[in-house]
Amino acid sequence: MVGSEGEKLRRTEALERLMLGLRDAREPHEVLAIVSRSLGFEFSRPCAAYEFRDAVFRPVAASEVTSVREPIAASSLDFDELLGHAVTRLDSRDLIPVSFDGQVRALFVLERAERPLDEEEMKFLHAVAAHAALALTTAFSFEQLRRYAAEGAALTEAAHTILGFTELEPLAEALCRFALRLVHAECVCVFGRREGGDRLTLIGCASRDEPGPLPETLPADGDEAIAALKETFGDGPLSATPISFPLAGGLDHGGLMVVTRRRGAFEKVETRVIDALVTLAALAIRNVELYEQSTRANRALAESSAFKDDLMAMFAHDFKGPLTVISGFAELLLESGNAEVHGSARTIMAQVARLAKLADDALALAATQSAGFSLRRAREDLVEFVRDAVRNLAEADRVAVEAAEAPLIVPFDRARLRHVIDNVVGNALKYSKGEVRVTVRRAGREALIEVTDRGIGIPEAELEGVFARFGRGSNTSRRGIAGSGVGLYIARKIVEVHGGRLDVTSCEDEGSTFTLALPLE
Ligand code: ADP
Repeated sequence: MVGSEGEKLRRTEALERLMLGLRDAREPHEVLAIVSRSLGFEFSRPCAAYEFRDAVFRPVAASEVTSVREPIAASSLDFDELLGHAVTRLDSRDLIPVSFDGQVRALFVLERAERPLDEEEMKFLHAVAAHAALALTTAFSFEQLRRYAAEGAALTEAAHTILGFTELEPLAEALCRFALRLVHAECVCVFGRREGGDRLTLIGCASRDEPGPLPETLPADGDEAIAALKETFGDGPLSATPISFPLAGGLDHGGLMVVTRRRGAFEKVETRVIDALVTLAALAIRNVELYEQSTRANRALAESSAFKDDLMAMFAHDFKGPLTVISGFAELLLESGNAEVHGSARTIMAQVARLAKLADDALALAATQSAGFSLRRAREDLVEFVRDAVRNLAEADRVAVEAAEAPLIVPFDRARLRHVIDNVVGNALKYSKGEVRVTVRRAGREALIEVTDRGIGIPEAELEGVFARFGRGSNTSRRGIAGSGVGLYIARKIVEVHGGRLDVTSCEDEGSTFTLALPLE
């Protein structure tokens, strides 16, 4: 019957049936099961299908349970050698390799028959192998796509997690754990060179089972490090990829990410994942470094700023003692009735007043800059408060206060707001010659204090600048009016902490109106 027309027809029909069966198979295992069943049936001999992955032929399907055998480890990737090995191991010469992409992907093994296969049967087997290769290509492509999607999602998750670390050790541990999830490895570790050290030190590690005896250090030279690793992990595939470590967490340049597996080569996908993780590692470590740098800089800044504030507060405070003594003696000189010294005594007192204001401003500035700056608010009548503050000013007779008779109850910090009134009304007196008008009134849900003068005014372009620290109008120096430029800065800060506003409208050479708004509640 061999080669007869009837037999040919039967084989053609069998192939068609096989093609139909394979059409919807999406899993490599499904393809292998369909083919091995059909072969077993055709030749009335059990058939086992082996899938070739990670340099090992693993039995995945069989036409009969009894024919499933042990995996065949590939000692070499040379296919002839491999087949020879398989023939001896499997006690069969009827092997059908399925190759695509230039690589053997599967193997069908028919159990030994009484007679060798004839030419027609061999042709039939090759046709089956061709169909199987086609179906496997599709199934593997599907599998690959699914893996790409999973790998992409896992890498995104890894990136989110790993880039958030601010310390090196936990970062290295997390990196290893992610690598272990994505790559079929036994152990993943990260080594890096400590500053000044001449060897690489283990920083992080993750292992599938109990970690074996891992080397705590490795030679810094790449080749020597790998040789040392081989001693530890055996001769299996090892991916030791250098990572460029910047100076972070006390690490010098240079580092290694090591992925190990005892059996099987790394697949292309895995190599790509390792590469992606190494890039991620370098980025994340750079992140740690930047974080460390900025923390150091912040700390230094905070320290120097606190030091400066303390220094300022100390100077300002200690300044006032001697100033009180000087002004006391100057007053005595004034009272002594000696006309000759009167002029000098007045000058002394004026300069002392200036120094005292500077000291007050410095103290207030230091207070507003400190982290603990807070208010001691009490609900009080703002009208009475403003009248009282104005009454105590040096040139009170130049100031007219306009306010309703009814009290205007507002929560505020007396000492701080006094500083603001003294400053704003004091400026109006300083930068003008005539009368200064102070209005206190209610406007909606706010209490307003408006201070108006007909003095030198502020150039339009500098209206905001005068509220900046050390900000002064250009027209003041032209007229030789001394000042520090911190008064308004402090005043606005204090008003803002009250939840209010301090603004100005002004016309150069015509005058200014400063408006202080405080919320009623
Ligand atoms: P200082 O008066 O010590 O220079 P301030 O912070 O109190 O500092 O004021 C900042 C600047 O605002 C002043 O230098 C001045 O140019 C301008 N300024 C403040 N008040 C007035 C005002 N009433 N009239 C004109 N210019 C003013």
